Amino acid sequence: MTDPKFYQLTRTERLAWLVAHEQLSAEDAAFLAQQQPLSDEIAGSMIENQIGQYQLPIGVVQDVVVNGQTYQVPMVVEEPSVIAAANNAAKMVRLNGGFQTHQQQRTMLGEVVLTDLPDLKVAQNWVLANQDLLMRVAQAAHPSIVKRGGGLQAIKVTVVDQTFLKLALTIDTQEAMGANIVNTICEAIAREVQSDLGGTILLSVLTNAAFGAVTVATVTLEPATLATKQLAGEIVAQRIVQATRFAQVDLPRAATHNKGIMNGVDAVVLATGNDWRAIEAGAHSYAAQSGQYQPLTSWQLAADGRLVGRIEIPLPIGMVGGSIGILPAVQVAHRLLKVTNACELAGVIAAIGLGQNLAALRALVSDGIQKGHMALQAKSLAIAVGATETEIEPLVAQLTQAKHLNTATATAFLAQLRHNNE
Ligand code: NDP
Repeated sequence: MTDPKFYQLTRTERLAWLVAHEQLSAEDAAFLAQQQPLSDEIAGSMIENQIGQYQLPIGVVQDVVVNGQTYQVPMVVEEPSVIAAANNAAKMVRLNGGFQTHQQQRTMLGEVVLTDLPDLKVAQNWVLANQDLLMRVAQAAHPSIVKRGGGLQAIKVTVVDQTFLKLALTIDTQEAMGANIVNTICEAIAREVQSDLGGTILLSVLTNAAFGAVTVATVTLEPATLATKQLAGEIVAQRIVQATRFAQVDLPRAATHNKGIMNGVDAVVLATGNDWRAIEAGAHSYAAQSGQYQPLTSWQLAADGRLVGRIEIPLPIGMVGGSIGILPAVQVAHRLLKVTNACELAGVIAAIGLGQNLAALRALVSDGIQKGHMALQAKSLAIAVGATETEIEPLVAQLTQAKHLNTATATAFLAQLRHNNE
């Protein structure tokens, strides 16, 4: 008899496996096993008007190979098929040597916008001539980030719509996502410019179009490793290329193409305590930067017939700040993932996004995604109609054979099951 697969183990056995394979400490496994809620002190201090806690499952994508290193990637997600798809992609990519990633640079951007200036050209020239002064203002506003080797790097000044004076600030936030750092610096610069030039400060804040933190991940696959029961790998590869081409010219498809990518990206972002709204805003603004909303990945056939995939996505994530140091489950997730800096974390997240896209496209252009999804949806449906722990398995077995997978069918099957067991 072969050993059961990781997904076939019970939760307790999975935790024991991770401890036995030195992926998780015994203390962290015990923490996850207990499922302790946050203390009132932590929960109440994180948000206003806190009235309770909200649970989501945390799972793991096994053996994701990125730049030659193997990661156990934590995911927090409510959609049943996401981790199964990510594992499927991780396996295919492992057979092909893994993902390669790099983050070209890692800076955040802030915008300071003033209006009601008597002469915008004069104002623009003043900013250009007073860069040193503004640099000193930024350093004084946030000295600790300067000590850490970061801070304001550059100021670009433009007149927008013959109305607005805009200062675009490039800021190195080191290991933090940096919204608070950027906002502090922006506000200080805005006050300085206004005190010298007059006018009105319209806004001074970070932009979530974090194009200074674009991360690239690539993968090259032998078509044979993409084969399904019905289709040869070469056909699957060609169809993946075509499906991506279609997304480039069809906005409704591009939106869903990118949603599939964000299934994986957001789940890791959430598990690692990062701000998923910021990541979503950045990703979609990057996809739309040409004026035509585009897929975040590209898939092409190389001259040797191999399939080459690439994702480009802004990933302004942090290793410190926000809720990262506060939430115990986030700290366990970081210890499981074992990344050492924000660049490395961004690389893993980009790889997961590319893999998620690969798994979705492969399923779409071959069997369709419902087949895989429905097996998992059947379980959710069984729980939703009130199946108890012992009823779930037989009910799911029946539901996966059913013609119509819906609440009415599940309710009827459950009633029948209970009747038979009477
Ligand atoms: P924090 O202000 O929580 O954390 C940043 C601080 O961490 C730094 O100022 C620094 O303080 C400390 N730190 C410790 N080690 C390092 C290091 N190696 N590199 C950098 N900083 C370090 O968070 P952020 O500024 O990162 O802001 C992120 C938070 O802001 C998130 O919660 C996000 O949701 C929220 N936010 C997002 C917005 C948006 O996206 N539009 C807008 C507003 C807020 P010190 O040097 O003093 O130790």
